This record gives sequence, C-alpha cells and structure tokens, in this order.
Amino acid sequence: MTSARKKPVPKKGVMDIATYVPGKETVAGVERVYKLSSNETPHGPSRKAIDALADISKHLELYPDGGSHLLREAIAEVHGLNPANILCGNGSDELLGLLCQAYLAPGDEGIFTEHGFLVYKIQITAAGASPVCVREEDCKASVDTILAAVTERTKMVFLANPNNPTGTYLPVEEVRRLHAGLPGNVLLVLDAAYSEYVRRNDYESGIELVSSNENVVMTRTFSKIYGLAGLRIGWIYAPLAVVDALNRIRGPFNVSAAAIAAGAAAIRDREHVEQAVDYNQIWLARLTEELEALGLRVTPSVGNFVLIHFTEDAGKTAGDADAFLSSRGFVLRQVSAYGLPNALRMTVGSVEAIEGVLAALKEFLEAT
Ligand SMILES: *Cc1c(COP(=O)(O)O)cnc(C)c1O
Repeated sequence: MTSARKKPVPKKGVMDIATYVPGKETVAGVERVYKLSSNETPHGPSRKAIDALADISKHLELYPDGGSHLLREAIAEVHGLNPANILCGNGSDELLGLLCQAYLAPGDEGIFTEHGFLVYKIQITAAGASPVCVREEDCKASVDTILAAVTERTKMVFLANPNNPTGTYLPVEEVRRLHAGLPGNVLLVLDAAYSEYVRRNDYESGIELVSSNENVVMTRTFSKIYGLAGLRIGWIYAPLAVVDALNRIRGPFNVSAAAIAAGAAAIRDREHVEQAVDYNQIWLARLTEELEALGLRVTPSVGNFVLIHFTEDAGKTAGDADAFLSSRGFVLRQVSAYGLPNALRMTVGSVEAIEGVLAALKEFLEAT
C-alpha cells in the first residue's frame, strides 16, 4: 500500500527551475507574421549549406561521425584554430549544460549577470549548484561587481559578450581584467553567440584568452549569423583538459549528420557571412535612429537585435506595445524574465519587417 503511493521525485534543484520560454512564432488570428523574437537571420542559411543538407539526406540510415571531424576541421580552418581544442554540440545550449554538469556540484556557485542569458541559471541549477546573479550597470556587465561576488565556492563565471537581450558588450581589456581577477580554479565561460556581428576595434570574442589560459572557454553558435538555428549546431573552443572532460559526458552522437554537413559548408561560405554583417551594420544603425526619433530609448547594441525601452504609463507599456505590434503581425520578445519588464527585444529583421514595426510603433505612440 505505502509503496504504491511512492513516486519518483526529481533531484534537488530541478523543480526550482523556471522552464525556458522561447520567442513566440504565431499570433492567433493573424496570418502574416514577422518573427523578430529569437534573433534569427532574415537572410536564411548559405545556399551551400542547403545543398550539403540535401546530399546528406540520401544516407540517413548511417550514424553520424561521433567526433564531428568534418565540422571541427572547417571551424578550425576558418578561425585558425587547432581542431583538438574544438568540441561541437547540439546548439551551444548543450555545451553550456555540459560545462555545468562537468564542473559544478552541489555547494558550488556559478555567477552570471542581472540581464544575462537565462540558460546559465537553468544549467547551473540543473547541475545542483547555486546560481549567483550579480547586478549590471546600465544594462552592462560590471567586472568589479562580478569579481566582488566571487567566493571560495565559485566555480564558474558566465559572460555573454555581446549580451542577449541587452546587446551591450565588454571591451577586451575589461574581459582580460575579469579573467585576471579570477582564481585559477574558476572557469570563465565567454558566450560569443553574436560575435560575428560586432564591428568594434576594442572587441575580441575570446580566442586569445582561451589560447593562453587553462580556465577560459568560448562558445559559439550556427543559430544566429549562419541561419541554421533549426539544425542545432554550436561549438566550444577550450583547453584540451576541458574538451576531454566534456567528451566523457556528452552523448556519443550529439551532433547530427545533417548538422555536421550543413555546418561545415556554411562556415566556409564567408561571402554569405559578410553580406549578413554589412546588412546588419546598416539596419541596426537605422533602426536605432528611427526608434529614437520616435522618442523611445534604445540600449546601444552591437548585435543583431535592439532592446527598446517603454514607460510605465498605462496604455504605453512594453506589454501594451507588444500586444499592439502582435495584432499587426510583428512578434517581438518580452523580456520580463530577464529582469526587464518595461522593454521589448527586437531582431534586426528584413527591411519590410523593420519598416512595418516602425510604422506600427508610430501609430501606437500617437494613439491616446
Ligand atoms: C542564441 C544564443 C545562443 C545560441 O544558442 P544555440 O543553442 O546555439 O542555438 C547562445 N547564447 C546566447 C546568449 C544566445 O542569445
């Protein structure tokens, strides 16, 4: 009788996790929707990636190469790295989780910043460790605040650079200062999901820091500028000891054959990447200017998205703006879960989408 009443219970921490809510894709009753809620590219993937995917579809009965050699070699070639220091994953989300599983235990602490990517907190907690959230200054990570939060329990520090959803970044000198202030047993995770978009002389994605230290890793993704979010491909550049640890706990075939083939073709198509960067340069600036011209405050972004701030005035809140835009088919991202209840994040989408949002926002702001 008593045993019949027993039921499986997840381990400590699991039920404390707030499930990640992805960006909305549809609006009830609206036929044509512009999805600007997940920072996907308006350009689609490289033609070469699509062709490689068609090719691989002829051999789906075969297991993929568990070492993702073709993909790691392509990444290494393009970035001038040693393939032995690269590990691929089912999106960079998987790699963030593997890092936590490998390096965090109950009693340990993982630090991330106030408006940092939600996956860090989820994965720290899933590993049974304690998430430590530190304040940002003006939507920007503060090296001093992060360092002040480090205790003897700290095992990992996460920094998205540039950060999502704020679009802000730390210059390389600040990242170096952060690293210099961390004990050698603390792993610094630099999430460079948007690094391809950044055009700033004082920015570096983290490759140098990883190359010259034992306690720094950098994660990257094919989901943003490469337009392959649907295939789930991420990679980490890390010291050999970290790659070794992650290799022991990952699934043996964690990257699909489709992802390996399409990813390798995509990263070699530099022209496709350059076109996307050029487009983003122009439209990120234009979108920011036009939003400011409407009287909205925009956090200066170096990514392929902007954070737009609204007021607390009835009828003009971020929630009201979101409802208005959604009804016209423009789906932005509410970012309350990121501690930003009065803001919306918007992807730099197609020209049609950008112009549509600007026109709709003008209408929204003028309505009384
Ligand atoms: C989009 C994004 C990623 C990418 O995740 P994938 O699992 O590779 O799709 C990683 N970090 C941040 C901050 C992101 O915004």
